[in-house]
Amino acid sequence: YQKYDYVIVGSGLFGAIFAYEMNRAGKKCLVIEKREHIGGNIYTENDEGINVHKYGAHIFHTNDKEIWDYINQFASFNNYINSPIAVYKNELYNLPFNMNTFSKLWGIKTPDEAKKIINEQITKSGIVDPKNLEEQAISMVGTDIYEKLIKGYTKKQWGRDPKDLPSFIIKRLPLRFTYDNNYFNDRYQGIPDGGYTPIIEKLLCGIEVLTSTDFFDKKEFYEKLANKILYTGPIDELFEYRLGMLDYRGLKFESEKIASENFQGSAVVNYTEESIPFTRIIEHKHFESANSEKTVITREFSTEWELGDERYYPVNDDTNQDLYKKYRLLSKSNDKYILGGRLAEYKYYDMHIVIRSALNKVQKELDCA
Ligand code: FAD
Repeated sequence: YQKYDYVIVGSGLFGAIFAYEMNRAGKKCLVIEKREHIGGNIYTENDEGINVHKYGAHIFHTNDKEIWDYINQFASFNNYINSPIAVYKNELYNLPFNMNTFSKLWGIKTPDEAKKIINEQITKSGIVDPKNLEEQAISMVGTDIYEKLIKGYTKKQWGRDPKDLPSFIIKRLPLRFTYDNNYFNDRYQGIPDGGYTPIIEKLLCGIEVLTSTDFFDKKEFYEKLANKILYTGPIDELFEYRLGMLDYRGLKFESEKIASENFQGSAVVNYTEESIPFTRIIEHKHFESANSEKTVITREFSTEWELGDERYYPVNDDTNQDLYKKYRLLSKSNDKYILGGRLAEYKYYDMHIVIRSALNKVQKELDCA
């Protein structure tokens, strides 16, 4: 006797969308979540009126009108525009690299002046066939931008000298020759009023959810409960790491509540010099212009990942991609399981893509049923 149509492992955005749509289609679902809260990595927690992004800053952005309309069913979004600041020594620069950045770097005014300086630096470097990340970056943006805004940050991010990193990590370094600090090029952008957690609460409303429950504690039991399992956890863990373990870059967050109304005047400030151990400081209240006498800031550190740590960024090299493909093949042999989301697909996945992907999976399931 199977009590559910679907057991859903993970209450992150992928699992929650899948559960919501299946529930709407009349399917009975049970959601299992090993953390003590729902929402996965987009979880936000209210602290004195400020919604703190517990697993890193999340900005919703998309060009896909359908997805934008879809997510707007569950929240109203503000008009936040991501325009981060970079601090290098005592200098401040606008990101992404644009005319404001170039003007500050070189005291110039026009796009032609900026292009001339960048091209001269690229030519002077003499790099034709970049052999590592450093050479790759210099061959795209010249030496000044590289030295001040990329080198130290990249070193901290990867825990290795850019000279020892493969060039493919940086495929593009967009340079914008307009005075435009809007980080994303997408048409729709914003932060949900009240944070992300209420979106997940709405998606899971009326669906059975067990938090603080690890699927692997009673895997066989849960398998018997439903015809199918949607699994959004790490793919290698599903197979007991039998082919090896997929690697990640980790993050560590240090949050602090400060008795100041405004600590840094921007939600996101990157620290690009090597001697400062963290990569950036997030000041959460600026995502929503929260009215509060205090402020909460989070220093973000990039770390080596070890089993037991939270998984953040998949490592996009051949070894890990090959291993992932082998697990993927293995997963195809068991049609009780549907795999989806950033951990099961070992992929960096923006939220709008996760929603699209979950909706596609639902459609495929319903079509086959
Ligand atoms: P998750 O949110 O990881 O959900 C998976 C869930 O499964 C987790 O809750 C986990 O606890 C649970 N789980 C795993 N194993 C088990 C088990 N054995 N038993 C029970 N439960 C289990 N996207 C954007 O669009 N904009 C951004 O600005 C942005 N910023 C980001 C910043 C960082 C630092 C990171 C890492 C990602 C960012 N993203 C951003 C991407 C966004 O976080 C993902 O798109 C989204 O969280 C993916 O949802 P998911 O459901 O696939 O995975």
